[in-house]
Amino acid sequence: MAAGLQAVRGMNDVLPDEAAVWQRFEDTARNVFERYGYRNVRVPVVEATPLYVRSIGEHTDVVEREMYTFEDKLNGESLTLRPEATAGIVRAAIEHNLTYERPLRIWTGGPMFRHERPQKGRYRQFHQLDVEALGFPGPDVDAEQIAMLARLWLALGLSGISLMINSIGDAAERRAHRDALIAHFERHRDVLDENAKRRLHANPLRILDSKHPPLQDAIANAPRLLDQLGDASRAHFDGLRRLLDDARIAYTVNPRLVRGLDYYNRTVFEWVTDALGAQGTVAGGGRYDGLFEELGGRPTPACGFAIGVERMILLLDAQGKAQAAPLDGYVVHAGEKAGAVARQVAETLRDHGATIVVHAGGGSFKSQMKKADASGARLAIIVGDDEAAAGTVAIKHLREGGDQTAVPIADVVARFAALNTSRDEYASL
Ligand code: ATP
Ligand code: MG
Repeated sequence: MAAGLQAVRGMNDVLPDEAAVWQRFEDTARNVFERYGYRNVRVPVVEATPLYVRSIGEHTDVVEREMYTFEDKLNGESLTLRPEATAGIVRAAIEHNLTYERPLRIWTGGPMFRHERPQKGRYRQFHQLDVEALGFPGPDVDAEQIAMLARLWLALGLSGISLMINSIGDAAERRAHRDALIAHFERHRDVLDENAKRRLHANPLRILDSKHPPLQDAIANAPRLLDQLGDASRAHFDGLRRLLDDARIAYTVNPRLVRGLDYYNRTVFEWVTDALGAQGTVAGGGRYDGLFEELGGRPTPACGFAIGVERMILLLDAQGKAQAAPLDGYVVHAGEKAGAVARQVAETLRDHGATIVVHAGGGSFKSQMKKADASGARLAIIVGDDEAAAGTVAIKHLREGGDQTAVPIADVVARFAALNTSRDEYASL
């Protein structure tokens, strides 16, 4: 291929076989979200750069080095490809006064962009499904969103995804904790690496996330915000735990769980699997009660989460849940009259919900039957001019073998359904 015409590094094509799995995942997720009353919203993939700097925070990995920021050469404006969806949604909610009368449950999905080192489960263009409850003080919606994810894993047939929760408190508690952290790491200056030193005063919470081996002891002994929560934050967290217990959702309280973006407060949570190596977090979220005000809106408590779609697809694959529903039928035909009958029979079957491919491009019966086999269809419908003249077609099971059955055209729908016995297990997915 000519140089420079490949896809950009870290940005992937999703080809038809894999896209079928994406669609099954997205359909299932959309269905679950809508059963909880979450409505779809769509926002741009490009926003003015200051939106992300203000919301995500200047001293975060995302803003410091992962954003695709560029100048719009036509007017000099600084723009950024969205690294996450919450900021854009909150911007839209403020701009259109969406929570003026009542709170709002919404979801969106699509590509996000972060300039990270590409590896399994980590890409430069990746996709999220993003769910937000705007205008709810919680913790009931916090628990609702977690329950919704538990239901989604169940609907997808996935297992082994465990829930971690934590509370990172409110602004004042975080400030007090931050001062305690700075003092603590000042006492352990000798083990800090360059990154940690740089963050010590800017964003000491991020040091807790460091993988630098000599730092691990100091991290383990660092003061825990969870031990220093004020009454309101404590009650919120206890409330969440009670609601999860009531719903029989198992969780681990992980006092070290922090999230990479600055706008979070109180509840944070992650769903984690050990089936994907280092990229084990398949979904993460939490509360962001101060973000509306930070972006110039009215005080609006809110909670949300994002699912990493590529990681979900990897997990579906790893757990053998990535089969797409196969074609129901492939119609082979030879002869002019037969072609007309083939198309008419296919339309009739589609009227009844079947997925049918009609062979295109001619060729012998033998070569058409090879294509029928390769298509993965369960049944072949065979139409020759003799059959067409007699008002019949032949149906043959491609997966289970056996002879072909001659069927009068008027009976095709009923006989096709009877022969297509394995369909129900897919229809119920
Ligand atoms: P990580 O710790 O893995 O970098 P994160 O905390 O940066 O994740 P969030 O900003 O919380 O991720 O995004 C929510 C989800 O989006 C993640 O849990 C993950 O599943 C997915 N995700 C984040 N970054 C990427 C990426 N570069 N490629 C693929 N998926 C990603
Ligand atoms: Mg990250």
